[in-house]
Amino acid sequence: MNQRQNKSIRRKLVAMVMLTCGVVLVLACCGFSIYETISIRHSKLDEMMLVGDLIGANSAAALSFNDAQAGEETLAALKASPYVMAARIYDKTGKPFATYLRPEINSAEVPGQVTSDTRGIQNGHVHVTLGISVNGQRIGTVYLQRDLGELNALLVRYVAISFAMLLVAMVFAYLLASRLQHTISGPIFALAQRAGSIRQSADYSIGDVQGSYKEIDMLIEGFDGMLASIAQRDSELRRHRESLEEEVAARTIEIRAVNTQLESAKGVAENAKEAAEAASRAKSEFLANMSHEIRTPMNGILGMTELTLDTDLSATQREYLAVVKSCADGLLFLLNDILDFSKIEAGKLSLDPHPFPLHRMIADAMKGLSLRAHQKGLELAFELEPDVPEYLIGDPGRLRQIIVNLTGNGIKFTDHGEVVLTVSREQKAEGLTLHFAIRDSGIGIPADKLSKIFVAFEQADNSTTRHYGGTGLGLSISTRLVELMKGRIWVESKVGVGSVFHFTAKFEPSRETMETQVTASPEELRGTRVLVVDDNATNRCILVKMLTAWGMKVDLAENGPDALALLYKAIGNGVTYPLIIVDGHMPEMDGFALLERIRSAKELKVGKAMMLTSAEQMGATQRCQEFGISEYAIKPVAKNDLLDLLLRILSKNGGAASEQLTGRIKESPAMGLRPLRILLAEDNVYNQKVAIGMLEMGNHTVIVAGNGRLAVEAHQQQEFDLILMDMHMPEMDGLEATRLIKQRQAVTGIRVPIVAMTANAMTGDREKCLTAGMDDYVSKPISRDELEAALLRNSGPAAQPPKTSPSNSPPSPGIDKENMLRRFGGNQELLQSLVQMFPEESEKVLTAMKAARSDKKADQVHLNAHTLKGMCKMFEAAAAAD
Ligand code: ADP
Repeated sequence: MNQRQNKSIRRKLVAMVMLTCGVVLVLACCGFSIYETISIRHSKLDEMMLVGDLIGANSAAALSFNDAQAGEETLAALKASPYVMAARIYDKTGKPFATYLRPEINSAEVPGQVTSDTRGIQNGHVHVTLGISVNGQRIGTVYLQRDLGELNALLVRYVAISFAMLLVAMVFAYLLASRLQHTISGPIFALAQRAGSIRQSADYSIGDVQGSYKEIDMLIEGFDGMLASIAQRDSELRRHRESLEEEVAARTIEIRAVNTQLESAKGVAENAKEAAEAASRAKSEFLANMSHEIRTPMNGILGMTELTLDTDLSATQREYLAVVKSCADGLLFLLNDILDFSKIEAGKLSLDPHPFPLHRMIADAMKGLSLRAHQKGLELAFELEPDVPEYLIGDPGRLRQIIVNLTGNGIKFTDHGEVVLTVSREQKAEGLTLHFAIRDSGIGIPADKLSKIFVAFEQADNSTTRHYGGTGLGLSISTRLVELMKGRIWVESKVGVGSVFHFTAKFEPSRETMETQVTASPEELRGTRVLVVDDNATNRCILVKMLTAWGMKVDLAENGPDALALLYKAIGNGVTYPLIIVDGHMPEMDGFALLERIRSAKELKVGKAMMLTSAEQMGATQRCQEFGISEYAIKPVAKNDLLDLLLRILSKNGGAASEQLTGRIKESPAMGLRPLRILLAEDNVYNQKVAIGMLEMGNHTVIVAGNGRLAVEAHQQQEFDLILMDMHMPEMDGLEATRLIKQRQAVTGIRVPIVAMTANAMTGDREKCLTAGMDDYVSKPISRDELEAALLRNSGPAAQPPKTSPSNSPPSPGIDKENMLRRFGGNQELLQSLVQMFPEESEKVLTAMKAARSDKKADQVHLNAHTLKGMCKMFEAAAAAD
């Protein structure tokens, strides 16, 4: 590249010199030739002028004497000059006088008449016309024409010589330029070569490159300076690289050290992670076990307390037991909250969606809460908008938990007034989203605490909390559950006025919604006039909505006197009331007093009466019977239950023997259940007893199997309507037994529903039960309501319950044997088998207790003693138990 550039510079320098010389020489030659041509022409003109003067002088006499001959002779002298082509003498009039023409010239080329003087060059000839004067008088004119051929030949020779000179000059110029250009291109070429060698050798000295001109010297100096700074940078770079290498080596050693540390830290972290995972697993297992371990005795405590409360007790005993029950309930609630919170912490809280009846679930939940509300003198009401479907797919247990928590809070933080739950459908939301609102007229929450209370362990006010109790977990658990249900939770509140807790939850529509919407035809109710007497406006409003929806004509009274006034007015108008619905608990005149007044006033015609009362109204059943009240229902009453009751009361055979105010008592929501034959698979004697006691209260027959194997055998030998199956049993557990029973059912085609009972509240139990083929699930400690609800769900269509005649009322207590028999549903056979089992069972317990005593295991001794005590109590052997 350098060489090419170098060559190019050299050639260009030579070309420039050559071009310059060539142009100068050509210009010089041209100038010279032009100058020569002009000067020669002028000299020739001058020469012709002289010749003309001469001829004029010589021919003046001839003209004067008009001697043409003489004139001709004068002109003939011109033959000596080969270049004079023509000559003529004109007289003073301008006419030709004498003529000389060279042979090759035509006379026409010579002017015919001339009177004035001219000179010039025309058509390659020099023309001159001169006057001939004698004594100052023009006597004629002479004309001369000269050929310029000689002149042109001269010019051609000049040009040829000039060209030759040009060539010679150019050759010289080339040689000179070739020689001289070296002084310029030489140092540049040397510089380029040096640059090339620097690239290969990394020697940055300029060497012996010399310049012969100032500019090239500057270039070389600049290049030298640049090389010097490059050399300096190069050496700096080298130094840097060397130090960098050292630095890299040092860093590499450091990194290796850090790596080693990291490796060991990773090992430690992995160990820690494994330990943490193991701890977390242990925590989960511990929680599962704790849940199981605590729930089993809780089952005993709660069940036994409930059963004992149903027996005849002194007022003090009842009061003490009520405290035990409420403490046990509270403990279970707390236990559930802590378990849920642990599940949230472990990220294991999940939903278990399946179809469920929403109205029924809410009614049950509200029933459970009504006692607490009524004890505080609060009205508890709930209302579901007509477009809320009956059946949904969702997690009823968790939904119930949120409702119970929020409504329970409402009851807890309200001292006067009411707590009302309303459920409506969110029209704007996608899919099936329900909006639940729980309104109370309680203490309210300060604005700055509104968002804090949803955080775990946060409470609006510590002093309040001390007064009202609680852990501050309920709302945080509810918030998480609502999130799982793809909804949101929020609160509106005003201190001293009350709070409204809202939450939304998304559900899937269930097929049953379409198939089993409330089918009971309210035809019998249409047009029936009813008087509703209730002091609570919300209750009145809800009742009016329900009753009018079935086409009933509703009149309202806020209290007893108003109701009486209305009834008296009705007589005048000829209006009769086939039905009166009365709130049992009203200020001034309560429901019973009102009915008493109606009964005593013969003129008042009221068909039948229904009492709405609260669970804690002691002796309400008895009083209703005394008053001959057709039906009584514990508030808040569910729409379907109310419909059932109304249909029953108003149907033609509707239980009323007499015209007025007599009939059947409604005691529990499961009264509509026919007596079932139930196989109870349960190994724990206490739990057996609890379940038996509860089931027999519903007139069910219970056959007990002490383990899974016995349950399978019993199922093969006898027919049952339903099986209650414990999960954990010796020999064969509930899951295995269920699988075997289901296999047999697949062969026989007779399907018996199996309901699991388990104390294990941790995750996956429900799935395990359902996978094994179980149909439903109740968790321990089982409550009577939950058990009855499960029976209702799994025992097919409800039959009309048997009418309870006065003789069917519980026998009077006192005789142990009778009590014992009643506990076993009058099942002598079962009682006998249990009695037979007793020596063997008690022997086992005693042996275990003795072994524990010799092993010095006090807790085991305690547990076995407790078991034995329970067994004694089962047979009403109170002294032995004590
Ligand atoms: P807990 O009730 O066990 O304290 P929660 O998480 O259920 O825990 O409630 C947190 C706090 O929110 C309560 O301590 C109380 O201060 C406040 N709170 C909840 N519900 C209500 C209500 N209906 N009225 C007034 N305050 C309420």
